[in-house]
Amino acid sequence: MDEYVSNLMANLKAKNPAEPEFHQAVQEVAESLTPVLQRHPEYRSAKILERIIEPERLVMFRVPWQDDKGNYQVNRGFRIEMNSAIGPYKGGLRFHPTVNLGILKFLAFEQVFKNSLTTLPMGGGKGGSDFDPKGKSNNEVMRFCQSFMNELFRHIGPNTDVPAGDIGVGGREIGFLFGQYKRLRNEFTGVLTGKGLNWGGSLIRPEATGYGSVYFAEEMLKSRNETLEGKVALVSGSGNVAQYTVEKLLDLGAKPVTLSDSNGFIFDSAGINREKLSFVMELKNVRRGRIKEYADKFKTAKYVAADPKLDHNPIWDIKAQCAFPSATQNEINAKDAANLLKNGVYVVSEGSNMPSTLEAAKFFLDRKILYGPAKAANAGGVATSGLEMSQNSLRMNWTREEVDAKLHEIMIKIHKNCFETAERFGTPGNLVNGANIAGFLKVADAMMDQGLV
Ligand code: NAP
Repeated sequence: MDEYVSNLMANLKAKNPAEPEFHQAVQEVAESLTPVLQRHPEYRSAKILERIIEPERLVMFRVPWQDDKGNYQVNRGFRIEMNSAIGPYKGGLRFHPTVNLGILKFLAFEQVFKNSLTTLPMGGGKGGSDFDPKGKSNNEVMRFCQSFMNELFRHIGPNTDVPAGDIGVGGREIGFLFGQYKRLRNEFTGVLTGKGLNWGGSLIRPEATGYGSVYFAEEMLKSRNETLEGKVALVSGSGNVAQYTVEKLLDLGAKPVTLSDSNGFIFDSAGINREKLSFVMELKNVRRGRIKEYADKFKTAKYVAADPKLDHNPIWDIKAQCAFPSATQNEINAKDAANLLKNGVYVVSEGSNMPSTLEAAKFFLDRKILYGPAKAANAGGVATSGLEMSQNSLRMNWTREEVDAKLHEIMIKIHKNCFETAERFGTPGNLVNGANIAGFLKVADAMMDQGLV
């Protein structure tokens, strides 16, 4: 590791102890930026990277609420406003029991670069709570969301900070959050994205992250004159990103064969077709059941329960050509990466944020597979949130075809930018470097223009 990066990392760890995911995300970016900082000493003397890793503002608050039995409950809420050099803070809210400051800082940090890559004017932020919506009634989720917004509303606004969904925050939660914001502010405004279609939402926003990650894989394959047609694909997760990844894979003639949740995964050797996908959508979005039920319903599938004692995840040990991790961070470790390649996988497009450990990512890069890092590959979600903001400002609704065409064009541009930047900085084919450097340059130049703020 270069001396500058090792000093930066030592300081970061001393100032932000016990936040391993944040350290991991910064280390990957800092290492990619070494050639940039060598070519541009002005960024180093202006301490651009040191400023980017320090959130502009961090809000942490109590979220008290009452469950259906009348008991009082207390959760912790957060909003990390990481960087506003190129636009208002923008990034999702995550409701999951594992949420803590370090996880949200890693997500907010990644968001800064991702939003920069989208070509749209959005800064980076992230937030959420350790609240677990699983097993809660609709009324409990509503009361929690209202209490969460009772504090968050002070800090957000259409020109300040525009949250969206993430793990555990889908259309239902965005509805409750938006309703409470509107009530508190007495204004109907585009303060959240992922809204319902009748009240300011955009067509294709629910589909966008999954579709975008498949479009990105398509672009990577194009660079080798190949397509997704007939390719077997492993998909993890079974939430928003996973569902629409499967849908777009089917559109493009690929054969998705797996889905998972935190209890285990299903492997359907016959392929997950449209009928099976609509079963999953109903199971996950309406009945809020477990993926195991898929194998009870479809006999071509087998279910494998998660085994925390294993040092690898068997979902990544199945013959295929493509992998679309779409569940959570660090879901692919070094052993999983080796298993993927051993089984024939040579395309990895990251739908989830930071799904690969540093060792797994290095393995993919060393073996020169087509590896699309999350910042680039899953940027379609936030890009379409940006398109939702534009429609809100224009007070217009674009058609499904219009939004999808814009999303597709943005994913093509992101791939091109990452591909060309990787070449320009001497590491052709390394889209991790391409994404980190291209994302950084736009933000860094804006920060240079705006002075020491
Ligand atoms: P979601 O709808 O809540 O689905 C998350 C899925 O991942 C569920 O199947 C969940 O299973 C599984 N999962 C979550 N935590 C897990 C864990 N610790 N171990 C194993 N499985 C776990 O969320 P999502 O919106 O699809 O987000 C998935 C990933 O994509 C996240 O990394 C998110 O940051 C990223 N992402 C999302 C968007 C977006 O627009 N939604 C945009 C960019 C990136 P359980 O139900 O059992 O928890």
